[in-house]
Amino acid sequence: MSGNSSNIEANLASAKKRLEQALEVAGRPPKACRIVAVTKRQANEKIDAALIAGARCFGENRVQEAKERWPERQERFSDIELHLIGRLQTNKVKEAIALFDVIETLDRPKLARALAREMERSGRRRRLFIQVNTGAEPQKGGVLPDELGGLVMLCRGELGLEIEGLMCLPPFGQDPAPHFAELRHLAAKYEISRLSMGMSDDFEIAARAGAHYVRIGTAIFGPRSET
Ligand SMILES: *Cc1c(COP(=O)(O)O)cnc(C)c1O
Repeated sequence: MSGNSSNIEANLASAKKRLEQALEVAGRPPKACRIVAVTKRQANEKIDAALIAGARCFGENRVQEAKERWPERQERFSDIELHLIGRLQTNKVKEAIALFDVIETLDRPKLARALAREMERSGRRRRLFIQVNTGAEPQKGGVLPDELGGLVMLCRGELGLEIEGLMCLPPFGQDPAPHFAELRHLAAKYEISRLSMGMSDDFEIAARAGAHYVRIGTAIFGPRSET
């Protein structure tokens, strides 16, 4: 179901309702899962409409784009929770730590070290999720399931980083359910408490499978611009 771009408030309400119904079916509390409204390549007016409608949790996939429009809104609204959901290059770590509350795409030792160093230097602790490449797709970010244990150990041990959650992005066109189940299994195995999984087309499946965050873009904001 694609969103009607002219009615952000109604789209948000509908996504929330569908999420709550999915949670209820799974016997989970209505607030067990939060919507990350994904604003990448969406018009500023739509972001403002979402803020007016009460949304406070947002996701962006590029540091540069986020930097152009979020600092000013973070000043106006003190309770925004901004998630980085796209690949993070180590040379952007400083900007990412300044801007985002949650980084969902930690996926390699070098990045973990850079994040640890910058959080220490700046005195800003940020919430971290490790992205897992459950489909083992070569072009996609995320640590392979087999390498997750090593990365978690590095973070918790030498680097002193707490890992709040795991995130995944199942291969396009595949049944997402086995990927969601695997992410949940991995989180249990490594005693990681939260899961970020599910997007516009499959967030109800993700909510039933145990998601704590679902990342919804087009179902709220409509189609994205090309660039
Ligand atoms: C774009 C994006 C989403 C949102 O996708 P929709 O299909 O528009 O809901 C979710 N997660 C990630 C990592 C994304 O890049």
